[in-house]
Amino acid sequence: MSKFARQQQSSPPEGWDYVEPILTALENELRDKVNEPHEGLRKVESGWPVYQINWQRTRYIYDLYYTYGRISRQIYDYCIDNKLIDAALIAKWKKPGYERLCSTSAINPQNSKFGTVSICRVPRSALDSQEVEDQTTGCRGCASGPTTKNIFGNKYGQYLAQIQIAREDREERKRKRALEDWDDEAKDKATSEDSTDSRFVVGAADGSAGTNARSLFWAADESEVERAAAVAARLANAGPPGGEGGRQKYEPPGKRSRPSKSVV
Ligand SMILES: [Zn+2]
Repeated sequence: MSKFARQQQSSPPEGWDYVEPILTALENELRDKVNEPHEGLRKVESGWPVYQINWQRTRYIYDLYYTYGRISRQIYDYCIDNKLIDAALIAKWKKPGYERLCSTSAINPQNSKFGTVSICRVPRSALDSQEVEDQTTGCRGCASGPTTKNIFGNKYGQYLAQIQIAREDREERKRKRALEDWDDEAKDKATSEDSTDSRFVVGAADGSAGTNARSLFWAADESEVERAAAVAARLANAGPPGGEGGRQKYEPPGKRSRPSKSVV
């Protein structure tokens, strides 16, 4: 069966629009990087984005499913089945010591001049202060333990699920605060004649039409990465009441309950 026919057969499951923007952005990023002139780069470096973006989008879906329970099994399986993410890499992440592995190539001794795993697999504690850089992936160290969290030291090493969830959380809080303020104001207004007030800006009710809507999926700087990590840790630890595996109950993004009161 042709790839086209297969694609026609399986349309994306419900909830796809939650992950589609980032997967598409990374696909475009990958295409741009592959087509970019490689002048000024060492030969090995030109191949890094392929491995790094593969890691990032696989990590994105992995985290949304396993770490935060934000997507359904159907979405996860769809990504695997359509080879949008790297199933072999995920299989490694599930093993102790391989939780952050940059690429399956880093643990294949055939890829190494010395017939060993890559230097990026060596725990930082076993290294002197030497700079680490895997030739194939550009990884700076993906062994478990206290090492740098961003294994590539660039935007492709950011944890996009974490950032997306932190931003959602921030929008949600902002929206709740706005509604609370509106409630207070409305109570005050109830006694007054004129209850129309242009201060309540129309358009932010769905939390998406803020004036400074971000178009980038990567964190702007390290402080946003840190805030995202803090929010994500809080949300991941909250877990369901039963506490089973720290997984949250999946709710399709479109079906989250919204206050019935409309600002519009
Ligand atoms: Zn590595």
